[in-house]
Amino acid sequence: MALSFEADPCAKCEEVLQPYLDRELSDAERAEAEKHLDECSYCRKRYRFEAELRRFVRQAAVEEMTPDLKAKLAALRTPL
Ligand SMILES: [Zn+2]
Repeated sequence: MALSFEADPCAKCEEVLQPYLDRELSDAERAEAEKHLDECSYCRKRYRFEAELRRFVRQAAVEEMTPDLKAKLAALRTPL
């Protein structure tokens, strides 16, 4: 990968966000990402948002989008 956590930690964190959630990272990469998440609230929010979004999307795939679910999704879309 072109980026490194040393050069630009937040950009690197964004780069590994999807593979992280897909559990495709190596142990070393995941450890680096988690270390950064520990100290960066901006990236932590991004990761939490993505993780929540995926959870809701999975849920929406098996059941109708209820007004309650739609409200929860809308509530997640807060500016980062
Ligand atoms: Zn960051």
